[in-house]
Amino acid sequence: MTYDKTNIFAKILRGEIPCNKVYEDDHALAFHDINPQAPIHVLVIPKGDYVSMADFTAHAPDSLVTGFFRAVGEVARSLELEQPGYRILANAGRDAHQEVPHLHIHIFGGKKLGPMLTR
Ligand code: 5GP
Repeated sequence: MTYDKTNIFAKILRGEIPCNKVYEDDHALAFHDINPQAPIHVLVIPKGDYVSMADFTAHAPDSLVTGFFRAVGEVARSLELEQPGYRILANAGRDAHQEVPHLHIHIFGGKKLGPMLTR
């Protein structure tokens, strides 16, 4: 799938639309989801044009892959979610209902999250 530079997260990365920022470094940006599905719902996105996890891990430089995953861990730690626990999730493609075609990891926490998937 070709990367669409007009997607909403690309606009956030370019600073064209605002976000409620949680964390930023050279590799990643994290911000609160506009429509939270849990008391804490943060999105972490890599600073690069990647649609999905498969695209990212196949094409991003090692430094970005490493930096992105370190950022995800850092955000979970900084939100103090390590002890109570949290869930990370990345939707990819139609069956997973991916809405925004820029790789993003959801971090959910702040309550007991229940079973992994609703049936
Ligand atoms: P997906 O279904 O692609 O995994 O999740 C996309 C997520 O992006 C949704 O949870 C949705 O609420 C969030 N989202 C969509 N547009 C915006 C926006 O403009 N700002 C923020 N902060 N989140 C957004």
